Amino acid sequence: YTGDRSGKAEADRLKKMRVKDYQSLPVVVKEVSTVYDAIVTMFLEDVGTIFVVNDKDELSGILSRKDLLRASMGKQELENIPVSIIMTRMPNVAVCFEEDTLLEAANQLIHKQIDGLPVVEKRVENDETFYGVIGRISKTTITEAFVSLVNGDDETGSQL
Ligand code: ADP
Repeated sequence: YTGDRSGKAEADRLKKMRVKDYQSLPVVVKEVSTVYDAIVTMFLEDVGTIFVVNDKDELSGILSRKDLLRASMGKQELENIPVSIIMTRMPNVAVCFEEDTLLEAANQLIHKQIDGLPVVEKRVENDETFYGVIGRISKTTITEAFVSLVNGDDETGSQL
């Protein structure tokens, strides 16, 4: 390997990485699920962020580890509190799209100080916009992509 070692090739490949090539499967609960169910789901699925959908499977909120911890500090029965009471609610949920670059997603994680983003597809019904949840981007996703950049096993076809 005698090429340019300034890192320009890596930077170019980084800018071409897209959400759709690195996203993982979303973990989702219904609005009517209880906080207890969400905690069980978070442990079983081994994720840090859970997405909440309404009865039409549209994104309605998001739950983090600390949201669930905070709810657990109260005296209420966790089996009696619906997640809709404690979640961060739309339109305050930051989202990304499959065609976004991973760099755009990473910038949102940093600037909004969050651990994960739902990957969504837009649905327009009667002039109203809804989002269907199709994937998940987390700090782990970004870390894996970062490593794949050097190992050359990313989708942009490089060999170091
Ligand atoms: P934790 O709270 O476990 O440290 P986060 O930093 O991801 O995890 O979450 C911080 C707060 O931001 C939580 O209240 C959570 O509901 C909210 N949050 C998490 N992800 C998003 C997102 N994509 N958009 C908007 N708010 C979010």
